[in-house]
Amino acid sequence: MSTRTRFAPSPTGYMHIGGMRTALFAWLWARHTGGAFILRIDDTDRQRNIDEALGPILNAFRWLGLNWDEGPEVGGADGPYFQSQRSDLYRAACDRLLAEGKAYRDFDSPEVVQADRQAAEKEKRPYINVRRSLDLTPQQVEEHLAAGRPHVIRFLVPRDRSEKVAIDDAVRGHVEWDAALLSDPVIMRSDGSPLYNFATVVDDGQMRITHVIRAEEHLSNTPVQVLMHEALGYELPAFAHIPFVTAPGSTKKLSKRDVDKYKNNPQFKRMFERADAVFPQLGLGTSETLNPVMVEYYERIGYLPQAVLNALARLGWSLDDKTEIMSLDTVIENFTLDRVVKNCAGLDPDKLFAFQSHWMSEVPLDEKVVRCGDHLRTAGLVHDPLEPAARERITAVVTALGDRLKLYSDILDVDYFFKDEIVYDEKNFAKRVAKDGTPELLAEFASSHLEPLSTADWTAERLEAELNAFSEAKGVSSGLLIHALRLSTTGQAVGPGVYDALVLVGREKSLERITAALMKARNS
Ligand code: GLU
Repeated sequence: MSTRTRFAPSPTGYMHIGGMRTALFAWLWARHTGGAFILRIDDTDRQRNIDEALGPILNAFRWLGLNWDEGPEVGGADGPYFQSQRSDLYRAACDRLLAEGKAYRDFDSPEVVQADRQAAEKEKRPYINVRRSLDLTPQQVEEHLAAGRPHVIRFLVPRDRSEKVAIDDAVRGHVEWDAALLSDPVIMRSDGSPLYNFATVVDDGQMRITHVIRAEEHLSNTPVQVLMHEALGYELPAFAHIPFVTAPGSTKKLSKRDVDKYKNNPQFKRMFERADAVFPQLGLGTSETLNPVMVEYYERIGYLPQAVLNALARLGWSLDDKTEIMSLDTVIENFTLDRVVKNCAGLDPDKLFAFQSHWMSEVPLDEKVVRCGDHLRTAGLVHDPLEPAARERITAVVTALGDRLKLYSDILDVDYFFKDEIVYDEKNFAKRVAKDGTPELLAEFASSHLEPLSTADWTAERLEAELNAFSEAKGVSSGLLIHALRLSTTGQAVGPGVYDALVLVGREKSLERITAALMKARNS
């Protein structure tokens, strides 16, 4: 039988990066074994706007290139793939369990159940539901139904079963539970809507899922799911419960709720700062709207899918004890569940950045130009469609940046190549330009060595030769002039090589900016 794995997200409006890692593992196992990967939407809690809630999830899969063989948009033989459209199937499965005496109608009110729970708590024993309704005669049940008495339907756990409920989890190993200690799970609410545990079993069973690869937090749901699989006569899938992803340097599950704390996490902080620097320019809000818990953050800030996939694959899985850089093909080829570690894995921004550096160095120039062009266009710095001159300019800037371009959004840090006005890094301006002697030196260099140069002579080689000649003659370090020139013509203390920067800014504009900077320095 060929492998069938699935990922079953609830549509929450964003794709959690840790959830993406779990989805990747399910996808990888399907691809490694030549099986099928199914995307199924757990939307039993009906959403008002499913497109809005699901869009970012499907986008995340598309961006990373993780295709699904069955699911939304592509369909498949075992659909529908939205739980909200599978009510009849749940109803039929529930009726079957009722008819076979494997489920029952529970007429206890929520207040009664609550009191049972409190009593258990008080006596410090685990809560197991009290099966009062099982004592009702068929006639009493009929009367209650005729009177329209609200009730839920519970699965009847075979508590007297002699052997344990057990699985051999691919990650956790052998896990077993005592059926006698399990509460009967509600499978249908009083309004007739199914609950997660039940809908999942019906879906996994009917879709012939062979491997349930999911987040560790669902391990506690597994015993009742196993029993329901048995009760419904489905073949039991294999299970692999994947430990959760934690925040950097933490043991707590990475969560959108803790975003405020992450802003002070030394390793995480930079990612938030980057969001606050970049997203406003792209019209995407701030780190409040998009943050590193969400997959979309990485896409919008200009990470490469290759880098994110590499980082996700290494979150709790390893090929061996040394290989870090891996293409998706390599991971597919080598992925097995027995190499998934039992401990939770911490998101590591530095490592992700290292992966990004590596994969960025493999991207052809043309591709970088297109993607940087997208960012510049979104920021309103170039027109849409890209004119040939703008394209050439982006190519020149990207070339000058070289390995300094790590994220596609880094192109926004050199926006001074794409607009007239520049923003000064005031602190460095004060330190590098507006200090004793420097404005005079810069003014002299500009008038004696830069102004005489024609546009044709305005090349990186020539500019470098002029600067070296001048600093030698003056007996000053070339670094002093380099810093002053860079800050005067770009406003910033870092960027591409200063001679490349001067060429990119151009002769006229460079001289204008130097004049303006000298005025600013003298007035400060
Ligand atoms: N909708 C569930 C979740 O997002 C799916 C759990 C499962 O895979 O069984 O956690």
